[in-house]
Amino acid sequence: MAMTSAAQALCRLADRDQPIAAIEALVDKLLEMAEADLPPVPLEVVASFRGIREISVAEMPRSGQLQREGGHYIVVVNAEDSASRQRFTVAHEICHTFFHEAQQVTPVNPPEWTGRYDERSDEEYLCDVGAGRMLLHPAWLQPRLESSSPTLEALLEIGDHAGASLEATAFQVSRMRIWNATFVFWEPGYRKVELARLDQKVLPGFDDGTMKPEAKLRARRIYGHPDSPFLALNKSIGSETVIGRAWTERTTTQGIEQLPTSTRVHQAECRSMYAPYRGPDGRVRDRVLTCVNWR
Ligand SMILES: [Zn+2]
Repeated sequence: MAMTSAAQALCRLADRDQPIAAIEALVDKLLEMAEADLPPVPLEVVASFRGIREISVAEMPRSGQLQREGGHYIVVVNAEDSASRQRFTVAHEICHTFFHEAQQVTPVNPPEWTGRYDERSDEEYLCDVGAGRMLLHPAWLQPRLESSSPTLEALLEIGDHAGASLEATAFQVSRMRIWNATFVFWEPGYRKVELARLDQKVLPGFDDGTMKPEAKLRARRIYGHPDSPFLALNKSIGSETVIGRAWTERTTTQGIEQLPTSTRVHQAECRSMYAPYRGPDGRVRDRVLTCVNWR
C-alpha cells in the first residue's frame, strides 16, 4: 500500500525508508539533543528544541493543537484533560513539527496514487507513535518489561513513572511486543439498533422501562501482542461477568473470563479496574481497564 505524501517527506527528512522508522529516528535525535533519556521526560525542554515557545491550557473541543506564531510555535492543550493526557498531547504536537519541517525541506507534490494508503503512514498515527516513544522510550521500557510480568499493576506503575496516561502506556507497551497480554479499555455504550430505539417514542401501552435497552460495556480500544487471540472492537460484555462487575461495583476485580475471539471462546485470567476519565467536553465517563492474560 502507498504512503501519504506527508509520510514520504518525513522519510526524506529522516533519511529512512519507512515512516515509522523515520519518526522514531527523529524522536531519538531530539531526546538526545535535549538530554532527556530518563523518565519522566521534561517535555517543556524537549518542546523548546522544536521551536515551541509556550505550552498553554485552554477550554477546547479537542485534546490540543499546534499554533504557529511568528517564527515559533505554541502548543495549546485541553484544560479538562488529566495531566498525563496533556503530556501525551504535547508529545504528539511536538511530532507534528517534524512534518512541518519535512514539508518545507522537500515541497511535496500531490500524491499520484489513488485509493487507500497504509494507515501506518497517516500523520496522526505517526505522531501518536512518536509521542509514545518520547514518553516511554524503549531504552528504559524494554528492560523494565522484560524484568516484570504483564499485570495491571505493572502497567500503572510504568505509566506513573513516565507521566503517561493509561492508554498511552498500553499503546506503547503493546508496540514493544514483549508482554503476552492484551489491555482492553471498555466503555458503556449501545449497539446501533439500540441507539435508534432510544430515540423512538415509547408506544402507548408499553412500559417505558422494559422497552429501553441497557448500556453494556463495550471494547473501545484494544492493545495487545500481535500473536495474542484477536478480540473484536465494540464487542460487549455482560454486567454479571467479572469484568462487568468492575463497572457496576466501581471496583477492581479478578477472575477467569470466557472471551469470544474470532476463532473460538478463549479462557483468560482477567484483572479489571474501574478507571473513569474526563472527556474533552469535561464530562466524566465510565471506563474499565482490563489486563487479559491468555491461557
Ligand atoms: Zn495531531
